Amino acid sequence: MLDILSQIKRRGNYVTFAELVIGDESLNGDRELVLEGDGFSNIVLWSGMSSEFIEAVDKILKEDVVHYHSTPALTYLLDGMALKYPIVKSKRHYKKPHWAPVVFVFGSVANCDSKECKKITRKKRKKP
Ligand SMILES: [Zn+2]
Repeated sequence: MLDILSQIKRRGNYVTFAELVIGDESLNGDRELVLEGDGFSNIVLWSGMSSEFIEAVDKILKEDVVHYHSTPALTYLLDGMALKYPIVKSKRHYKKPHWAPVVFVFGSVANCDSKECKKITRKKRKKP
């Protein structure tokens, strides 16, 4: 399994997909990482990825060692890569692919109160 976590750690907090793929061309492929769930679909986080890259990202998200924050598309432009899709305005069903620019943030989503977190991550509510 590809160790994407050490690549993220090496670059520090708030790493973009662009930084990762510019640093390592072997991550490129023909797959897309898409957010789909109850009430939202066709939200693309990144495109042109290898399936190994997608599996590695899924794994560290499930393990809850990193999570996503929403970030302005400008963050990606400054890193030198962006997707050509229209930008996501909110989590909803889109007929055509829309891009949600995100960064990787260290730590569990349960311990984070950032509003950039809530835009993209569905929090599990604590049982009373
Ligand atoms: Zn967060």
